[in-house]
Amino acid sequence: MDRPASGSNFIRQIVEADLASGRHKRIVTRFPPEPNGYLHFGHAKSICLNFGLAGQHGGVCHLRFDDTNPVKEEQEYVDAIKDAAKWLGFEWGEHEYYASDYFDRLYQFAEALIKRGHAYVDSQSADEIRATRGTLVSHGILSPYRSRSAEENLELFRKMKSAAFPDGAHVLRAKIDMASPNINLRDPVMYRIRHAHHHRTGDKWCIYPTYDWAHGLSDCIEGVTHSLCTLEFEDHRPLYDWFNERVAEAGFFTPPLPQQIEFARLNLTYVLLSKRKLIELVEQGHVAGWDDPRMPTLAGARRRGYTPEGFGLFVERIGVAKADSWIELGVLEDCMREHLNDVAPRRMAVLDPVKLVIENYPLGTEELVEVPNHPQKPDWGKRRVPFSRELWIERDDYQEKPEKGYFRLFPGNDVRLRYGYVITCKRFDGSANTLYATYYPDSRSGTPGADKYKVKGNIHWVSAAHAFAAEVRLYDRLFRRPQPEGSADLNPASKKIVTAQLEPALREAKPEERFQFERHGYFVADRIDSRPGAPRFNRAVTLRDSFSK
Ligand code: ATP
Ligand code: MG
Repeated sequence: MDRPASGSNFIRQIVEADLASGRHKRIVTRFPPEPNGYLHFGHAKSICLNFGLAGQHGGVCHLRFDDTNPVKEEQEYVDAIKDAAKWLGFEWGEHEYYASDYFDRLYQFAEALIKRGHAYVDSQSADEIRATRGTLVSHGILSPYRSRSAEENLELFRKMKSAAFPDGAHVLRAKIDMASPNINLRDPVMYRIRHAHHHRTGDKWCIYPTYDWAHGLSDCIEGVTHSLCTLEFEDHRPLYDWFNERVAEAGFFTPPLPQQIEFARLNLTYVLLSKRKLIELVEQGHVAGWDDPRMPTLAGARRRGYTPEGFGLFVERIGVAKADSWIELGVLEDCMREHLNDVAPRRMAVLDPVKLVIENYPLGTEELVEVPNHPQKPDWGKRRVPFSRELWIERDDYQEKPEKGYFRLFPGNDVRLRYGYVITCKRFDGSANTLYATYYPDSRSGTPGADKYKVKGNIHWVSAAHAFAAEVRLYDRLFRRPQPEGSADLNPASKKIVTAQLEPALREAKPEERFQFERHGYFVADRIDSRPGAPRFNRAVTLRDSFSK
C-alpha cells in the first residue's frame, strides 16, 4: 500500500545520511516478532516504521520470526502475525525468515568465538551465575570455569550440542568483562541446554541461543542495515556490537555491520501493550479471545472495525521519539474516525428502540424517502428508505418532562424526522410502550415549502414494518484506569449487547463492511459472527470523543 512519507524524524535522518554518504546503497530493515502472542498496537508502530522506512527509501523490510525460545512458540502465532502484518497493508515477498533457520550458522559462529578465546563453557548453576553477576555498584565475580582452554571449551560445547548433558548442566558464555559498568557485558550467556521440542526444528537441537546472541547475528546474516528496536535495548547495544564485531573479525561478515537504533515504545492510555499481560486476559477468560474486539491486538482491531489506514495516520501523527511518553487513546480513536468518516456510508439504526405511531398518517400506506449515502459525497448517490405510519425511534429522543435545552420529542413539541416529515409529539402511552404523534403532510424534506417548518430537533428513525432486528455490540475501553496494570483494572462496562432496529439496506451488509450509523458512530459487520442476510455489528468508535470530556 502507498503511504505518504511521514514527517522527518531522527531515524529517517540517519537512514538518509547513510544513503547520501554511500555507506549503504540500499537499506534493509526488519520487523522481528517473537511468535509467542498476537501483534498489538505497539507492534503496529514498529511495523509501520520498519516497512515504511524501507519502502520510502527503495529498500526492503524483512519479516523475521525471532523463534529462539522453543517452549513458548506456536504456529498459531506465526500465522496470526502474518495475517496482521498483511492486513496493515505490508508485503515482504520472499523475505520471510526465522531465526531458527540460522541455528546451524549461529552454532558455527559460537565455535569460532570459542576458538578465538571469546567464549567459554561455564558449569555453574543458573543461580550461581545470577548471584555472581554483581550489581550496579559492585563488580561481578569471575567464574571458576572462566580459564578453561579453548580445546576443553570446544569439547564441552560439542557435547552440550550432542545431548550429553541434562538441562542446566552447563551454559556457553561470552568472555567479555565481569567488571563492566554495563551488566549486559558481564559474560552474558549465549547458549543454554534445553531438551525441548521446537515448532520448526523439532528435536534437532537441545541447546538454544539467547536473544542477545541470536538477534544481532540474524541481522548480520540478512544484511540488515538499520536494526530498530525499543528503548529497553539501549543498554544491550554495546553487546549487540560486540557479538557482531567478534564474528566479523572471525571472517564471517564484512563491515558496515548493522546499526542498532532505539526509539520510544508506544504507550497508550487505557490500553495494555504487553503480550505477557494480554495472554493472561485470554487465558483467564476476561475476553473472548485474542481477536475479541476490545483487545488491543490487530486481530481485535480488525473485528472492531478499525482500519489499517487509521493505524497509518496514527503512526504518522505520533511520530518517532527517543524518550518514552504516553499517548492518549483519543488520538488513536480520532485517527480511526477520520478515516472512517471518509470511507463509511451512512445508514439509520435505532439502538434502543421505542415505537412511534403517526396517528394522522394513512393506514396501509408507505412511501420511499431519498437519503444521501454520504453528506459530503454527492457522487455516492442516494438510497430510498421506506417510511410508514409506525416507526422505531431512540428511547432517549423522548422526554416526558424535558430538561433545559432539550429540543427533541416532548408533548407539544415539533421535530423533524430526518429526510422525512415534521411531526408534533402528542403523548407517550407507558402501557403500550408507544409514543404518539401527528405529522404535517406538506413538510416532507425536499418538497417545495417544506422548509417553512423551523424546528430545532432532527431525529433518525426506521420504519417498523421494514426494519429488521439485529445484534449490535457497543464496545467501550477495556480498562477503566488510564495506566492499567492488569485484570484488576478491567472496565466492567466494556461490552454491551443490544438488539437494534436497522434500516433494510443494512440486511445485506457484508462481513467487514463499515458504516456510520447516523448520530451513533462507526460500525462494522462482524467478520466472524455475521451470516448472509443476518449481519451482526460492532461499534468501532463513537462520533465524538465522549470519554475525555
Ligand atoms: P511485548 O513486551 O508486548 O511482549 P515484545 O517487544 O516482547 O513485546 P516482540 O514480538 O519481541 O514483542 O516485538 C517485535 C517488535 O515490536 C520489536 O522490535 C519490538 O521492539 C516492537 N515493539 C513491541 N512492543 C512495542 C511497542 N509498545 N511500541 C513500539 N514497538 C514495539
Ligand atoms: Mg520480546
